[in-house]
Amino acid sequence: MKYAIVSDLHANMEAFNTILSKCYEVGVEKYICLGDIVGYNAEPSACLEKLKSLDVVGIVKGNHDEYASNGDNEMEGFNPHARNAVLWTREQLSEEQLQWLSKLPLRTSIPAINTTIVHATLDSPDSWGYVFDTHHASDNFSYQFTQLCFCGHSHIPIAFCKKPVTMRSDKMIEEVPEWAYLRHEGMVPSNPNEADSMSIDIQPGWKYLINVGSVGQPRNRDPRASFAIYDTEARRIVRYRLPYDIATTQEKIRAAGLPEKLATRLQKGT
Ligand code: ZN
Repeated sequence: MKYAIVSDLHANMEAFNTILSKCYEVGVEKYICLGDIVGYNAEPSACLEKLKSLDVVGIVKGNHDEYASNGDNEMEGFNPHARNAVLWTREQLSEEQLQWLSKLPLRTSIPAINTTIVHATLDSPDSWGYVFDTHHASDNFSYQFTQLCFCGHSHIPIAFCKKPVTMRSDKMIEEVPEWAYLRHEGMVPSNPNEADSMSIDIQPGWKYLINVGSVGQPRNRDPRASFAIYDTEARRIVRYRLPYDIATTQEKIRAAGLPEKLATRLQKGT
């Protein structure tokens, strides 16, 4: 069975449709969403309805989903652009859609595939913290009782593994190096107009904490839409990076009167 894991769609339909085409092409049957369906970009309602039309077996709430649906006008930690976009988003969604968002859980598990999902961190999901290094990963692993955990929130793909105690390794928790590629400031993708992918083969007895990157607003200096597919038979997780029609997404942001910075950042992947 193939599961697509998508995070931080952020109301970007061009990016969402692009990754869905790949999902149909490779035979994805089930979907997992790590939150932040809305916010930043211009098509929150379409994005939400598209997601609801898929066979979603696990979904959690992101901080943008929370702020859009809970009536909180403070939005602690948000910059003015993000805040403006949340206020605009609220106006675009029906009462039913806002209710649906507000009822999403902060974390959940998918026992069939020994997986937990959360938007931010397992140790304190409503604090909206980030996982950037092995210390953060270690805190998470303390609360991770499944082999796999997928998270989002930072919009930066990163993966950690925790080896079994029987290995007696010096470093029990390590970053999976394949996924660190292109994360650092100043690095640019070799071929930003081409699709590519990278994979992690799941080892028996190891645990994994994996951020799949963002579909709708990547921030790792790679503007391509990022998501992953877990093939449970092959025991392999493949992360895809797909170019999409950024210009159209930008036009929609401008036509909606959303902050210009939200349009320009998409082409830089910041
Ligand atoms: Zn987000």
